Amino acid sequence: MMKTPSFEEFKIMDWDAMQALFADLLNEDLAEVNLTAWMTGWSDLRKLVDERYSRLSLATALDTTDEEAEAAYLTFIEEIYPQALAADQKIKEKLLESGLVPEGLEIVLEKMRTEVELFRDENLPLMTEERKLGTQYSKIYGAQTIDWEGEELTLTQAKSAMLTTDRDVRRDLWERITERQLADREATNDLWVEFMDIRSKLAANAGFADYRSFRWLQWTRLDYTPEDSKQFLKAIKETAVPAATRAYQRYTKRLGIDTLRPWDLRNNQTTFHLPAIQAFESQDEFIARVGGILTKLDPVLGGYFDAMREEELLDLMNRKNKRPGGFCTSFATTGQPFIFMNSVGQASDLRVLFHESGHAFHVFERVNLPYHHQWRPGMEFAEVASTAVELLAAPYLAEAQGGFMSEEDAAITQLLNVEEKLLFWPYMAVVVAFQHWVYENHQLGSDPESCDQKWAELIDQYMPAINWEGYQEVKKTGWHRKLHIHQAPFYYIEYGLASLGAFQIMVKAKENQAGALRDYRKALALGGTVSLPGLYRTAGAELAFDVSTLGEVVAMIEKDLAALERVIA
Ligand SMILES: [Zn+2]
Repeated sequence: MMKTPSFEEFKIMDWDAMQALFADLLNEDLAEVNLTAWMTGWSDLRKLVDERYSRLSLATALDTTDEEAEAAYLTFIEEIYPQALAADQKIKEKLLESGLVPEGLEIVLEKMRTEVELFRDENLPLMTEERKLGTQYSKIYGAQTIDWEGEELTLTQAKSAMLTTDRDVRRDLWERITERQLADREATNDLWVEFMDIRSKLAANAGFADYRSFRWLQWTRLDYTPEDSKQFLKAIKETAVPAATRAYQRYTKRLGIDTLRPWDLRNNQTTFHLPAIQAFESQDEFIARVGGILTKLDPVLGGYFDAMREEELLDLMNRKNKRPGGFCTSFATTGQPFIFMNSVGQASDLRVLFHESGHAFHVFERVNLPYHHQWRPGMEFAEVASTAVELLAAPYLAEAQGGFMSEEDAAITQLLNVEEKLLFWPYMAVVVAFQHWVYENHQLGSDPESCDQKWAELIDQYMPAINWEGYQEVKKTGWHRKLHIHQAPFYYIEYGLASLGAFQIMVKAKENQAGALRDYRKALALGGTVSLPGLYRTAGAELAFDVSTLGEVVAMIEKDLAALERVIA
């Protein structure tokens, strides 16, 4: 076989040069005796493609006005990536046809078989088209700014400014933000019609009557069904919705208001009657203290975080022309993670960094698996890795523990995080139920006005505590502002399931922290080599959809919230 190029050589290759590498693997005679060498060659090639994709994509996120970066990214996703996927597909087929099963690849092969069954050449240009629509969606929402007291604020900054006890200011900001978002209503609706059209074609080309069945398998969800998902929504309605309504009532009382308006929530965060918690001033301070907390939690995890600081794998602070949000990506050839986020120096940013650090730990832990193919667990478990760190780090937030704030502020921060997770389940249910409806009724689901109606209905069912009077248009168009619905359909229940798993790990850690973290790392190190239920079990949790499992966790959460409220009072 040919020698694997370095990333420096690979990143400037055009498709013709890359094609030779794929062809080499495809032409090799495959047998038991050369299976490991062949698999390693394939794995190395996938790492190169993976890293090229993530570096090009990251460059566009770091500076949305960098035209050169955007052009390079677009060239790659239009001219190279679809070809690489198609070639990779042929190699998968070759392995499956050989009947050989490389050690540790059993689960991966089952997923591959699913992918091969779904794969259609004619879907590749459609998927490129869909990705481009996704980029347009990002552009629309990334360009939104508002004028505020003579300054231009990004929406991230504007939402941060909403963390004030001055309710009029909150309302004014909220109105400014939503007005700006509504200005893009038609553009978003137009994109939606295109998204839906592409999705029905994707499903039909692969021989499916509906997009959901196709998408479910595209996410290779082999361990649970759409019915399980609906069962989880039912469990939420029975347990989390009433608990969330009680939480909203306490919250309304804390704010000293009679009725809860949308501007009283800031991504479901309360403001109390305290000034916004300013947690840190610079990226250096942010990194240093978070590193300290993680080391206390678990020295191995702290070591990973220190390595990221040393290798400059963190870009954390918000600035104009940076893509909104936070994520962890990775550079596959070296097995290094990279964390991107938009911190403005507040306590809520801590949660995001702990979360993304959990993803980064996954990258570190799985790196010793022999093949790139084995790295990815289902997202249902990937989000356990991240969410657990948020919860496990909570006891170290106070300055006395090496953290950022007073005992009281730490209790408030912890309460906000736990409360937010409780309040998330009903919102998640809206997003998931909405998509079940959209794809069960493809024609109606392609009509933005019907979508508006359905969204409003679901909000009334799952989040009845919020008073939207006078703002029906904003209420109805909530689905516009949920990027997953547009860019990653049906990717959302993962967060809710994972949150349940993470709370289960937290329960274990309360009894034995070192043991719980050892199990946590053990599960991360398995990558995607065992089933989801197996990963959950290794981590000390259980993949569950039923009323009683969720009900128990919700009851524990309500108890914890009551205890935290006593500390604060
Ligand atoms: Zn995540």
